[in-house]
This record gives sequence, C-alpha cells and structure tokens, in this order.
Amino acid sequence: MSRKVVIIGAGAAGIAATRCLLAEGVKVHVLEAAAVPGGRCITDTTTLGHPFDRGGSWIHSAGINPIAEVARQQGAAIIEDNPGGLRAVVAERQRLTEEEFEAYFRAWRHLADARDRLNNASGDPAMAAFVPGEPWGPYVRHVIALLSGVDAAACSAEDFSRFEHAPGEWLLPQGQGSLLAAAAHGLPITYETPALRIDYGSEPIRVHTRHGEIEAAAVIVTVSTAVLAAGKLTFDPALPDHLRDAIAGLPLGLLNKVGFAVREDSPLAIPGPVLMHHGCADEAIMIRPGFAHQPVVCGFVGGGFADALEREGAGAATAVCRDALRAHYGGTIARDLGASLETAWRSHPWSLGAYSAALPGHSGARAILAAGVDRRLLFAGEATDPTLFSSVGGAWRSGVRAAEQYLATTG
Ligand SMILES: Cc1cc2nc3c(=O)[nH]c(=O)nc-3n(C[C@H](O)[C@H](O)[C@H](O)COP(=O)(O)OP(=O)(O)OC[C@H]3O[C@@H](n4cnc5c(N)ncnc54)[C@H](O)[C@@H]3O)c2cc1C
Repeated sequence: MSRKVVIIGAGAAGIAATRCLLAEGVKVHVLEAAAVPGGRCITDTTTLGHPFDRGGSWIHSAGINPIAEVARQQGAAIIEDNPGGLRAVVAERQRLTEEEFEAYFRAWRHLADARDRLNNASGDPAMAAFVPGEPWGPYVRHVIALLSGVDAAACSAEDFSRFEHAPGEWLLPQGQGSLLAAAAHGLPITYETPALRIDYGSEPIRVHTRHGEIEAAAVIVTVSTAVLAAGKLTFDPALPDHLRDAIAGLPLGLLNKVGFAVREDSPLAIPGPVLMHHGCADEAIMIRPGFAHQPVVCGFVGGGFADALEREGAGAATAVCRDALRAHYGGTIARDLGASLETAWRSHPWSLGAYSAALPGHSGARAILAAGVDRRLLFAGEATDPTLFSSVGGAWRSGVRAAEQYLATTG
C-alpha cells in the first residue's frame, strides 16, 4: 500500500505535520485551497509598507510554544512585548481617576482566577457567570470578546481557563506569518486546490479535488472547524455523530484587525501603552501604537461587535478605530495616519472566522476531535490542542501530534 499521507491545509498545523512526516521518510502531499501558505497566520508585507500580520502575531506563552523554537531556528528578531501599561477610556469619559483605574484593572484580573472559581461551579458554565457586576462588568465582557472572539455567554469557562499561560509574549518585526511562510518553503504543497470530499470508507482513501482524485494511506485534516461545519469539505461516509457534535461545539469566534501606517515622527510610531477604548453598548477597541516595533498602529475588534462591523461592510472597523484615535490623541492625529488595511476573517472563504472557542458544556470537544476517526483519518488544527488552542503554537503542536498518531500506528 502507498505510504502517502495527504494533508488538507497548509496553515501552521499542516506545515508542522508535513515537516514531521517528511523527517520520518513518509511521502506527503499537501492540498491548500489558497494561493499561499499560512492560513490564519499570514503577513501582509506591502499594503502598509511594513510587515503586518493579518492574523496571528503574538507568540503566546513563548516558554512552552513550539513556534518559539521555529523563530530561534530561523534566527528571527524577537521582541519581548512590553507595552508599558494600559490606558483605558470608558464610554464617553476621557480619563479614569486613579481609583477607578485600579478598580477597572482589578476587574480584568478577576478573569485570571476563573479557573479557581470554576472548582466551585458545577458543570461547564459560560464565562458570563464569572463577569463581575456593575460598574465594571461590561468592560470585562469586552475583554473576554477581545481574547476569545466570542461574547461571554457563548464561551465555555472551563475551556477559557484551560489556556496555558507561561512566561513570554513575543512579537516578530518580520511578522509571524513570514515565519510560517519560510517554514513552508520547499514543502510538497499544491496551492489553489481545495479538497472537496474525502472518501474514507475505501482502501486507500480517496481525496477529491476539482482537478481529480488522490489516493492516500491516511489523511490529516487541518481546516478550521467553521470550514468543516459549513460542509465545504465533505466526508463519505459522513463523520460519526460524536465528531460532528465536537465540531459544532467549537465554533470560530471573530477578531478583526485594522492596521494604519503612521509617519515615522508620529507618537503613534513608537510602542506605547495599550489603549482600551470602551464605547457604548458592547463596543470595545484595543489599539496598539508602534506594533511589533514598526511604524504601524494595530487596532483590534472582537466578538459580536466585530461581526456587526464586518457585516456593515468594508471600512466600518477602520472608521471606528480612526474615531477612537482622534478621541484619544486629538483631531490632528489624522495627519499622521497613512495607508490602512482591515481584515474580514468571518468572510474569508477558507477560514470563516478567527479561532475556536468551545461553547458552554462543550469543553471536552477538543479532545474528541483530536482523537479522529481512526489512524487513517486524523484531525489537527488549533481547535484540537488541549491548552494552546486558538493560537499558532497550538496549531503547530496539533500538527506534530497528528503526525505522531499516524507514525505510532504504522511503526
Ligand atoms: C485576527 C487574528 C489574530 C490572531 N492573533 C493570534 C496571535 O496573536 N497569536 C496566536 O498564536 N494566534 C493568533 N491567532 C490565531 C491563529 O492565527 C490560528 O489559531 C492559527 O493560525 C490556526 O492555524 P491552523 O493550522 O489550525 O488553521 P489555518 O491557519 O486555518 O489553516 C488551515 C488551512 O486550510 C486551508 N483550507 C481550508 N479549507 C480547505 C480545503 N477544503 N482544502 C484545502 N485547504 C483548505 C486554509 O486555506 C488554511 O490555509 C489569530 C487569528 C486571527 C484571525
């Protein structure tokens, strides 16, 4: 039997699985729907005149994140992210008093104890159960949306608290997407070739594309859970119910970014405090000047607010970030802003969102998906990592795990 393994997707998980299998002498064929590698971790190097990650940029928990080793191997410049504080503005008010700021910050930190408080909670409640009351509750909800991409009521507290925090939050001036693109260089990837259907009832497995079919001894599927749930890739026979439930329990939240190139002599060109702009209702924007030590401002919108802005159409998220910058730095700051770009991950045809967040009651779904169907049909991708889910490092680690699952059963 052919020992060829077909990998669906050349994002972090697919790249890692491919490198791992090739190192063991396994024949691999990667199918990638897009024209470039990286998936949700991709660096735009042209629009702003400086590298800008449209998706994942931080190497979170660097001490335990496998991407840290990839960065070292590539000799990439690494910045320990140290924004030097937090500048928060709430609703229409321009400044918080010292006391208010302390209380605001304490409310945030309250989230970090969710794990301890979970021990006393029954079941797998939503993060909404851990949001403090007024006056700071709404702002804590904003932070949950910016971190998890979903609103607190749709976010499993068990899952949220499983993310493993370790020392080191790194950024790369070249962009994390550039790192992945270099890691994908030379791999056997066929681009612009989406897998349409996987017939895994047969021996060998057949993977259908619009250019024909490919035979495989095993398949590792790394596409997002939203792509799977939307049926953009189908399976024959249909996936067993427990896997379909797991996929449905891990929908993708939304985080969108807005980038502005800024004049080199602008105060926005140098790394400054994190600006949290809390508007009315559930509107929150996080803004980072001098992001990744580039003359670039990066704005973030998350959760339902991001979805609403993306539905409003191109330019809506850019407009709210521009307004927030004017409100904080004065109207003349507009002169410092040059080219801009805005992401729309919900509409991205091969992602359909930003990253997974388990629904309340579904914190076990990641392990179910990671177990796959059998050694011939395996699943990887950020949604399948137990503690670094929603990150590039988790996706990479899941690709290695799936490759090892395959290798373990083939000896
Ligand atoms: C705005 C934003 C900010 C983020 N910030 C961070 C951060 O700071 N740090 C961090 O660690 N993570 C961050 N993330 C998350 C991180 O980018 C993702 O978790 C990670 O890149 C996912 O990798 P993956 O391999 O699991 O999936 P993907 O990157 O989605 O890879 C799957 C690949 O499959 C391809 N594909 C889809 N369907 C098919 C098909 N039918 N056939 C063939 N190919 C197909 C896709 O094109 C894609 O290339 C962010 C994400 C977003 C969107």
